[in-house]
Amino acid sequence: MRIMAQMAMVMNLDKCIGCHTCSVTCKQAWTNRSGLEYVWFNNVETRPGLGYPRTYEDQDRWKGGWIRQPNGRIRLRGGGRLRKLATIFYNPDMPKIADYYEPWTYDYDMLLTAPADSPHVPVARPRSLITGEEMKISWSANWDDDLAGSQEIAVNDPILAKMNEKVRLEYEKTFMFYLPRICEHCLNPSCVASCPSGAMYKRVEDGIVLVDQDQCRGWRMCVSGCPYKKVYFNHRSGKAEKCTLCYPRLEEGLPTVCSETCVGRLRYLGIVLYDADRVTEAASVEDEHDLLAAQRNAFLDPHDPAVQVAAEAAGIPHDWIQAAQRSPVWRLIHDYEVALPLHPEYRTLPMVWYVPPLSPIVDEVARTGNDAEDHRVLLTALSTMRIPLEYMAELFTAGDPRPVELALRRLAAMRSYMRDINLGNPPQEE
Ligand code: SF4
Ligand code: SF4
Repeated sequence: MRIMAQMAMVMNLDKCIGCHTCSVTCKQAWTNRSGLEYVWFNNVETRPGLGYPRTYEDQDRWKGGWIRQPNGRIRLRGGGRLRKLATIFYNPDMPKIADYYEPWTYDYDMLLTAPADSPHVPVARPRSLITGEEMKISWSANWDDDLAGSQEIAVNDPILAKMNEKVRLEYEKTFMFYLPRICEHCLNPSCVASCPSGAMYKRVEDGIVLVDQDQCRGWRMCVSGCPYKKVYFNHRSGKAEKCTLCYPRLEEGLPTVCSETCVGRLRYLGIVLYDADRVTEAASVEDEHDLLAAQRNAFLDPHDPAVQVAAEAAGIPHDWIQAAQRSPVWRLIHDYEVALPLHPEYRTLPMVWYVPPLSPIVDEVARTGNDAEDHRVLLTALSTMRIPLEYMAELFTAGDPRPVELALRRLAAMRSYMRDINLGNPPQEE
């Protein structure tokens, strides 16, 4: 057993209101610089949607990173040495600037110089920050904002305005929720594995994945190698940059900027202990449906006296072990099993996990007129919930709906239990 410590995050998706405060404050703190105009270390996606960069989940498109084999498994591309050497000099499988978006500013002079007696409200025209030309905006980091699946329907059906029966029914099936994303600070980071310069590294003490700016040679293999597309290229400096999990703040005992400014208070930060040997096992599990259990199994119980002794012997500070015991992260992931990883099938063992959204059940409850907080209603409504279980399973459990359903049932039971407690009623047995 090789015990190590890792900073991890759990986000409760039920509480995200899609305000983008986290993205904006992160940008102000870390990427408000020339060459990084298009970069959002933290972004908030509306699901379902294409994401940022768009279609980043299509692992067949970004072949430099991962490819899906005919048998359904995923492996890192480029087995032989020649192949690896060739890709160092030729790295075509990266998102283009249009897949992120072309950053723009506005021609604010138009507002100031508009004639006072103009019958129209003056409109500032967008101007490309790259070419300086007036531009037609076609995409942005949150272009899917609030559109849910309706964007596709709107594109495919030009007679939408008539709202015929078919379109109305399609709209009734649409759903949406917000998915905030940062770098996953993976236990098995493919960005580090794919860096030919040795510039990408995972800090031994807390597992934060960083780029050594002096070592980076700008090959961008990390960009194509990261399946979450969370490494960015600074076009001004010619170096790769990524989320640092605000390590200078963590070292001062402060939370990350995104956690501190989150309006919904939905980000739980904490230390977890894990067995590095089990990481290797978990990354190579054959059956994708076993991946989640294997990844959970990599974590160690910080309350176990044997783990505590081994952790201290491994040089993990005593106060870190105590912090791991107090952390809600381990409990949400391992004990309660209500937190799930994003795309475990990428096999990088991501360290940002998500509590799936339960709120769509309220929609079902509202339609039936039942009590939205009665756990018996919540539990029976799972089969007809608005966000399909299968969709969440594709995101969080490599397609297996059972762990998602278990998490939602526990959340529903907990919500009902807490309501009974708060109302002074004895908790219900069922
Ligand atoms: Fe590296 Fe991507 Fe994992 Fe972040 S999410 S640690 S950039 S592989
Ligand atoms: Fe969601 Fe919090 Fe970000 Fe607002 S600040 S979008 S609530 S994660």
